[in-house]
Amino acid sequence: MIYDYIIIGAGMGGLSAGINLILNKKKVLILEKNSLPGGLVSTFKKGRFEFDTSGYDIYNYGNEEHIGKLQKLLKKYEIDVDTKVVPFNSRIKELNTKKEYELKGEFEDLILELEEISPGVIEKLKELVKMTKEVHEAVEILLDGKTPSEEEYPNFYKYLDKYALDVLKEMKFPKEVINILSVWWLDLGSPLNKLSFIDYADFLEKLIFKKNVILNNKNLDFDMKLVNKYQSNGGKIYFNSKVINIINEDIKIVETKDGLKYKGKHIICDLAKYYVFKDLIKEEIKSVNRLENARTIGANGVVIYLGLNRAHEELGLNNYKYYQFLTLDSATNIKYMNSLNHSTWVGYVPNVVNEDASPKNTTILVLKQIYFEDVFKNQGAQDYETVKNDIADRLISQFEEAFGVDIKEYIEEIAISTPFTIERITNSVNGSMYGYMKKGYDSSIHRIISYDEEKVPGVSFVGASGLLGSGIDNAFYSGYYVTNKLLKEKE
Ligand SMILES: Cc1cc2nc3c(=O)[nH]c(=O)nc-3n(C[C@H](O)[C@H](O)[C@H](O)COP(=O)(O)OP(=O)(O)OC[C@H]3O[C@@H](n4cnc5c(N)ncnc54)[C@H](O)[C@@H]3O)c2cc1C
Repeated sequence: MIYDYIIIGAGMGGLSAGINLILNKKKVLILEKNSLPGGLVSTFKKGRFEFDTSGYDIYNYGNEEHIGKLQKLLKKYEIDVDTKVVPFNSRIKELNTKKEYELKGEFEDLILELEEISPGVIEKLKELVKMTKEVHEAVEILLDGKTPSEEEYPNFYKYLDKYALDVLKEMKFPKEVINILSVWWLDLGSPLNKLSFIDYADFLEKLIFKKNVILNNKNLDFDMKLVNKYQSNGGKIYFNSKVINIINEDIKIVETKDGLKYKGKHIICDLAKYYVFKDLIKEEIKSVNRLENARTIGANGVVIYLGLNRAHEELGLNNYKYYQFLTLDSATNIKYMNSLNHSTWVGYVPNVVNEDASPKNTTILVLKQIYFEDVFKNQGAQDYETVKNDIADRLISQFEEAFGVDIKEYIEEIAISTPFTIERITNSVNGSMYGYMKKGYDSSIHRIISYDEEKVPGVSFVGASGLLGSGIDNAFYSGYYVTNKLLKEKE
């Protein structure tokens, strides 16, 4: 049997690619090394808690009024998902200035709060919002394979190669406002002095109009819906099937760790390119390797999943997100984020948005700290446990102090994920959580434009290290985008 497509990895990109191909009547096989689908979007059980590994902000989903790309695609695949919109509801603490901010409700409320902080800023914010719409539309046009016109989208071209921080300064935004408007990017590992303005504006548009959501049910339920859609249309998926070798001939041969071999006309990898070229395709593919070398590995990090035996109201955890930064100046803050004991992190309390996130009278708190260097690389196996427990202990203490709450005495369950955990799941380089870093010269726009140049005949890439970068929405959309291009090419 020769498959039309063999997909390696059943993460968001792989599953979306599989569904699109199977709905287009292709013969498809997905090989997944784990026993469950979803990759980083998964769920694990500890005691009476079910923790979602990621997805505490699902971008580009939207509501009924503003339907985002992810929702549109799920509707196209006829997959129903139950979601709850995440409000801007967050508390932010900046250690160096001892300032604290509380953001509430919708973006309109945030604008009013920023106007209070810096009277007169409202007009500039309106201008920025207008630009975000223009940029977002231009990116959509580009994704449709067309070219946005210079007359209609002047700001897209004007700012194409500029960094977000430079544009915001050029627009004369006060520093404090720039800082507050940078929290989401620091959390995602992109300081504003390195992030392209186009990525910044496109993402801000999603935050403002295409509301972030969380799933009402657990990640694994969502993963299973995707698998069911794929299988019920005739798709094959084999779990516990780690691919160890791709023989890159006209008809590709994919070999699993058990020595099984599968033939396919085209291979789609839901994997980091670096890993595929280093470990799976033995022959060297120089041009693609060169492009890969020019990229920067995205942030890695530690995530602490806490099951607390009190209701969130009782614990005083009434915000969805809690941020602590050493400084909100993202360019400066990032310099401090390269050691295991820095003090920038974010905490999520899913129960604030979804009361069923954990059993009655309990709360889930997820703390995430990211690093830009491979800070774990010198970590020997013998003190690994101590190091990760120390990080957890420190972050929990910092959280208690920053927001005046008691956590430790209510911990019923705790699980700690490190870059090693992520590397084990995804085979990403250094356990990167976010694929490759989106930087000026490696922005989404550059990736979309250079997509055809990057291709190795018969091998394509989807997922976080591909086209649009990391994120559930991006990884999922990349599966659709890439397979649609392939279907058209092969027509
Ligand atoms: C802690 C954390 C929190 C996050 N939070 C959010 C969030 O709130 N919102 C958001 O949008 N994004 C979030 N992300 C990012 C998001 O989860 C990822 O960008 C996205 O899920 C990646 O999807 P992917 O398609 O690249 O596949 P991956 O999730 O990387 O999956 C790849 C799959 O390939 C399989 N595989 C690997 N090697 C092989 C092999 N050799 N053979 C067979 N199978 C193999 C793996 O088992 C895995 O199932 C978060 C990530 C992390 C780590």
